Amino acid sequence: MRAHNFGAGPCTLPLEVLEEAQAEFVDFGGTGMSVIELSHRSPEYESVHDEALRLTREVAEAPDDFEVLFIQGGATLQFAMVPMNLLKTGQRGAYIVSGSWGKRAHEDASPHGAVYSAWDGRADGYTRMPASNEVVVEPDTRYLHVTTNETIGGIRLVELPDVQVPLVADMSSDYLARPIEWDRYDLIYGGVQKNLAPAGMAVVFARKSALTGARTDLGSFLRYGWHADNRSLGHTPPMFPIYLMGKVLKLIKSKGGVRGLESEAAAKAGLLYSVIDRSNAYYRSPVEPAHRSHMNIVFRLPDEDAEARFLKEAEAVHFVGLKGHRSVGGCRASIYAALPMSSVERLAEFMTSFQGTNA
Ligand code: PMP
Repeated sequence: MRAHNFGAGPCTLPLEVLEEAQAEFVDFGGTGMSVIELSHRSPEYESVHDEALRLTREVAEAPDDFEVLFIQGGATLQFAMVPMNLLKTGQRGAYIVSGSWGKRAHEDASPHGAVYSAWDGRADGYTRMPASNEVVVEPDTRYLHVTTNETIGGIRLVELPDVQVPLVADMSSDYLARPIEWDRYDLIYGGVQKNLAPAGMAVVFARKSALTGARTDLGSFLRYGWHADNRSLGHTPPMFPIYLMGKVLKLIKSKGGVRGLESEAAAKAGLLYSVIDRSNAYYRSPVEPAHRSHMNIVFRLPDEDAEARFLKEAEAVHFVGLKGHRSVGGCRASIYAALPMSSVERLAEFMTSFQGTNA
């Protein structure tokens, strides 16, 4: 029996993709080997790789003037690679500190260049994103870094700040779940282990002109330009995540691409928020309603005892991963792309019935 996996990442992946991978696992395409035993220089792997690159560009609707890169190391490595590559002497990186991940991006950038906070949501407990007029971009700023969805706080950036500098985004936790305003960005990155694939790498989109001006005094792996020049095959790439991501992207494409994911996410999130909003404050969302995440639904119960009981009973009926992040407590239902609507409906029913017997 499959669990209802509400984990924040790694998380559920499409069952049809897992089964397809299982069926071809020990003999991939008649090679007599699994895909992870192939040479990364073999024609069989190269075609998997190129197809995944092509589908990533197609599903994301990335224009030709962006490079698509697969880089081992997850989003955390990107916190450092962004300032390393983009900040030259005299240039600064601005950061929107919208929660745990925006804060980490800002902190991790500071050893690699001059960075500052252009807005910090601490005073409101990181329960909302900034309005455009609250974001202060200072002179000599090379980019403004945003986190489009704060996985722990459960808030999402609905409207991009109206600033004159290019944006850089961490899209880890809502990757490809809505259309991207490409003309605003110089660089976009995200770990794949939520909407797209098993953990093991980040997908990076980099504007070609931004790479032309990037720093070159870095080891090859740390240079975006090196990954671009080598089709992300300059070294042994994370073959299994790339292979599986190709299958997930094919499925996303068949279901209407980013727009399909966007409307499905709105419907799934809407169902859970409606249970919360109709509960006479038995369940509470700490988040500013207009900025509520469509990926990570954060909620509280009347007290911590009720939360502990809720989580225990939920686990007993195969709901997995509903505990809030250890830094904030409470409950969080992550409803990434592959989580079926039926799981969300089951959770909505469970929440209503739990309230009925405990309120
Ligand atoms: N940014 C966001 C928004 C995240 O949710 C996460 C992981 N949960 C990270 C960055 C860090 O990613 P990784 O673990 O892939 O380094």
